Amino acid sequence: MKAQQFVIIGLGRFGASLALELMGMGYEVLGIDHSEERVEELTDKLTHAVVADATDEGVMRSLGVRNLDCGIVAIGDNMERSILTAILLKELGVKMVVAKAISLLHGRALEKLGVDRVIFPERDMGVRVAHQLVTPYLLDYIELSKEYKIVELTVPACMNGKSLAEINTRAKYGCSIIALNRGGGVIVAPTSHDHVYEGDIMVLIGSNESIDQFEEEAV
Ligand code: ADP
Repeated sequence: MKAQQFVIIGLGRFGASLALELMGMGYEVLGIDHSEERVEELTDKLTHAVVADATDEGVMRSLGVRNLDCGIVAIGDNMERSILTAILLKELGVKMVVAKAISLLHGRALEKLGVDRVIFPERDMGVRVAHQLVTPYLLDYIELSKEYKIVELTVPACMNGKSLAEINTRAKYGCSIIALNRGGGVIVAPTSHDHVYEGDIMVLIGSNESIDQFEEEAV
């Protein structure tokens, strides 16, 4: 079942951004922070925003946190409080618990406690930005496994007007263009007769090696 109602604990930069994005997507969000100032900033923007200490079991029970589908521990400044809050959410029976880790050890501890998903926003963003910096046309990528990935690239000027048959990624590099996005219109599974234009976004799937080679030689 898809989560509909979220509780986000810790409304710092990460927690606040997550909360606002989920609200924008139409979900219900309860935000909790022990800082009055942080809560005040978001009070009109979230379904509910409450000043509370998330490690206080009584308070968490009275807020009805256990009835929500997904709890996110976005406390980044205090490992002990993050761990206590994660334990509490699990014990209260929140179906899906996600927690932000600030170090590998913190992440391992959260996993051992049974947190369903541990995220490392700073580390992951660092990795992402590094890839984008060395590949100027790279917009985004997803690692499918250690060997395969999907990448989103902006079509460079040197490919303007070419058909997929001419670019011929499959035969030349061993990777496939699985979608094209032009001004919001998406062509899914384009054929060899489709053309690409500078500024279009193309989505490729293939081995890391084949895509890296394509990026180096063709883009
Ligand atoms: P970021 O790096 O995303 O800005 P911060 O570490 O600055 O994250 O923010 C964490 C937030 O978590 C802070 O607003 C802090 O007040 C809040 N917080 C920390 N401990 C608790 C707690 N026990 N209960 C509720 N909120 C907490």
